[in-house]
Amino acid sequence: NGIVPAMPKVLLHHPVLSVEAGEEFVQSFKDAVDGTLGAPYVVVYEGSVADERIAARTGGYWCAMGMETIVDREGTHPVPTATWLQRMAPGAAATIAIGTCATWGGIPSADGNPTGAMSLMDFLGKDYRSAFGLPVINIPGCAPLGDNFTETVFAILLYLQGLGPLPTFDELGRPAWLFTETVHQGCSRAGYYEEGTFAEHYGDPECLVEIGCWGPVVNCNIVKRGALNHMGGCMAAGGICIACTMPGFPDKFAPFYKAPPGGIISTTISRSTGSVVRRLRRLSNRHANREVRWDKLGEVPSGWGHVEAQTPGLKMMEFFYKKWQNWGARKPGRRPGEEDRFWGVQRPGIPSDYIDSSVTEGPGHERH
Ligand code: SF4
Ligand code: SF4
Repeated sequence: NGIVPAMPKVLLHHPVLSVEAGEEFVQSFKDAVDGTLGAPYVVVYEGSVADERIAARTGGYWCAMGMETIVDREGTHPVPTATWLQRMAPGAAATIAIGTCATWGGIPSADGNPTGAMSLMDFLGKDYRSAFGLPVINIPGCAPLGDNFTETVFAILLYLQGLGPLPTFDELGRPAWLFTETVHQGCSRAGYYEEGTFAEHYGDPECLVEIGCWGPVVNCNIVKRGALNHMGGCMAAGGICIACTMPGFPDKFAPFYKAPPGGIISTTISRSTGSVVRRLRRLSNRHANREVRWDKLGEVPSGWGHVEAQTPGLKMMEFFYKKWQNWGARKPGRRPGEEDRFWGVQRPGIPSDYIDSSVTEGPGHERH
């Protein structure tokens, strides 16, 4: 609202956050429908769209905002939000569905679906285009990430102002830069999956797939981005992915907290390859946890605990590993033949540690 550079001034009309109430609050919506608002508007719709025909059969409604008179009927009647959507969407500069209920129907449209709930895309249809020619923009999540929403709205507003390109959306209208990767690809536990170690209980640090995580097949960026202020996110907080951002949610992922059947193949593979890879990495990790000096002197001067010296077998393995590592590249450090000059056995402070016999002695190079 004038604070973010290049951001056009935005007036928020929200049933909860707006200061206006009652008729005064609804007036701007009516102006938008009548074309008398005097400014472009963007519709942001949260929640699924209920099938009001079902409620109308018994003279009721599912979800409404404001009242209006209806020809041939007495008094005033609630205006269903579905009706507002139908009236406002065609004239909107953009229509944005926020949250999985609005984007894909979500929990209200799960098996049973008493209200006939559906997504904005389902409600407005394939041919819907906003006044600026955009289909419905979808920002899923239950709850959606606030940063995903504000970032997308900002990019769209810049586009509508003519100040930026149209952001890239995927074939389902999701911001492509936010929803292309899977949870698994950005998960902080993916290393455990790869090494074939899996959590058995909540609270275990390993990969959660065997206690019900669907992350490998779910498009969501929460672990990379964090839930709030770049902190948290499902796996970071110890939770499995129940696929809340997905069009198939919840039916295709229920029952929750049960291992996805498809995971059996990949976990079996990663268990067998991981058992080998894990052991090799532990060796490399032990090697990486020693200074080069410690290897040369054959001892680790740690007062915290005994660190095993290299065994001859390990030494040989590391020798060949190093050869391979330097293959085709120039080994950093001193030239061959000069490497061992400064590996003094004594602690620094003993003069003999600093004598470099390879330097030609002459005046001014007396030994002490
Ligand atoms: S916890 Fe889920 S998302 Fe993370 S590595 Fe395991 S399966 Fe993948
Ligand atoms: S990780 Fe899964 S459960 Fe968590 S927000 Fe993303 S899609 Fe939803």
